[in-house]
Amino acid sequence: MNKIIDGKLISSKIKEKIKEKIQNLDVKPTLVVIQVGNNEASNVYVKNKKNAAINVGMNFNHIHFEETINEQEIIKTIEKLNKDNTVNGIIVQLPLPHHLNSNKIINHIVPIKDVDGLTTINLGKLFNDEECLTSCTPAGIIELLKAYNIKLEGKCVTIVGRSTLVGKPLIHMLLKENATVVVCHSKTVDLKRFTTKADILIVVAGKKHLICSEMVKNGAIIIDVGINKIDNKLYGDVNFNDVLDKVSYITPVPGGVGPVTIAILLNNTLKSYNMMNKKD
Ligand code: NAD
Repeated sequence: MNKIIDGKLISSKIKEKIKEKIQNLDVKPTLVVIQVGNNEASNVYVKNKKNAAINVGMNFNHIHFEETINEQEIIKTIEKLNKDNTVNGIIVQLPLPHHLNSNKIINHIVPIKDVDGLTTINLGKLFNDEECLTSCTPAGIIELLKAYNIKLEGKCVTIVGRSTLVGKPLIHMLLKENATVVVCHSKTVDLKRFTTKADILIVVAGKKHLICSEMVKNGAIIIDVGINKIDNKLYGDVNFNDVLDKVSYITPVPGGVGPVTIAILLNNTLKSYNMMNKKD
């Protein structure tokens, strides 16, 4: 059996469906990415988002500010985009430089255009089981698991990482699927005690090869979200070769969660378009 979860394939299938739907629209959806400074990883992520958006037939607008920009200027831009009916999705590429308050800036995005699902309103709706735009990476992880018919109900799922971007929204998405969720973080004592309990282990710590074979239960399913670039090479948070024999499924890095995250971003933009035009 092929144990490797093919994120590129799942992503292509999602994008194909989006493309078909967009082909039938007279006015195409528009995604706007606001970037500040020249973070090397952000440059790559924005380029990937642009290519993916254009490939499915969306309009893409990249607003790129100098590192020294102040909060008010960015907020003014967001408020203008909020009022622009031709704009459907707005994202602020993270991380922002330290002098900028990400939370404050993101919360100026009107929730219907918050395609990263990171405004307090959308996060609150998620926690309250209300319909909303949800964070792309956790939604992508659920999508990957469903694509491989991996059942979540009754499973013990351990998440390593509690960021607002991935770990925290994921807790609620997994609970909704009736999984039992354990959350670990940098202050967890004896990480192995919790990772070895997991039927499904989701690692989103940003630490190269944090997880090795002895930390994994036999037959576990592993979702490796981490992307660590070292000497121009990408590594996951899981030591792939070390755990491969032991697991029943695993996502590779690259080619696992990353491509699906982008597909969900496009799907969220189309959702926002439909909500703005009351098509859904
Ligand atoms: P973050 O720094 O905001 O959060 C990291 C989390 O990991 C924290 O909650 C921290 O407590 C925990 N952690 C750190 N070291 C730990 C340790 N030794 N043991 C246990 N927990 C530990 O990062 P983030 O934004 O959540 O991203 C994490 C990683 O996922 C990064 O490598 C990032 O590049 C990657 N990422 C990938 C995608 C994708 O699409 N594939 C999307 C988002 C993030």
